[in-house]
Amino acid sequence: MDIKSAEFIISNTDYLKCPDSKLPEYAFIGRSNVGKSSLINMLCNRKDLAMTSSRPGKTLLINHFLINKNWHLVDLPGYGYATAGKKMRDQLQDIIESYILNREQLTCLFLLIDCRHEPQKIDLEFMEWLGENGVPFSIVFTKLDKLTHAKGKSNVQAYKDKLSEQWEELPPIFLTSSEKRTGRDEILGYIEGINKT
Ligand code: GDP
Repeated sequence: MDIKSAEFIISNTDYLKCPDSKLPEYAFIGRSNVGKSSLINMLCNRKDLAMTSSRPGKTLLINHFLINKNWHLVDLPGYGYATAGKKMRDQLQDIIESYILNREQLTCLFLLIDCRHEPQKIDLEFMEWLGENGVPFSIVFTKLDKLTHAKGKSNVQAYKDKLSEQWEELPPIFLTSSEKRTGRDEILGYIEGINKT
């Protein structure tokens, strides 16, 4: 898929205020610092479409972007901030959960995982929750360029092995590097394939 246009539409904290549109939505989520903004910018061929979330306080927002005038890319708040207090974590959870469970336009959720880390409880629990609620999701491993090819491959395999303990069938998995622009065609091709059906 060529990205012909990518425009910011709206930011808000309430799924009820998301755009009144029937266009399919593809949302991106992950722990803070996982490389979500970089990935979104890489996919859209833009330097600063998604703003990097170095400060937790700025990230309680659901951001909608209109792509090629026919689908929405949604940048969801990051989760798992070590420094965030309980109030903010609860608030975040509310925003994320209500969007994911109630937004009918949500077509696929891309869950970002830093390929350098061991499977983390918070991510595994989140996937379990997605499964329980029948939310379609894919896994996107980020920052592949930070590891050698062999190490990247073995980390991803270890992750798949861990997931196989819990899941009979694994979700689609994408290996990406925003630095090297790896995985772009695969993710955009996947979205294009769903949009065509
Ligand atoms: P966010 O908090 O999830 O939006 O993460 P950012 O996109 O702001 O990235 C967090 C940090 O990781 C920044 O310093 C990025 O430059 C770096 N980063 C993100 N993606 C990649 C990648 O694919 N490769 C490398 N080497 N660094 C990355």
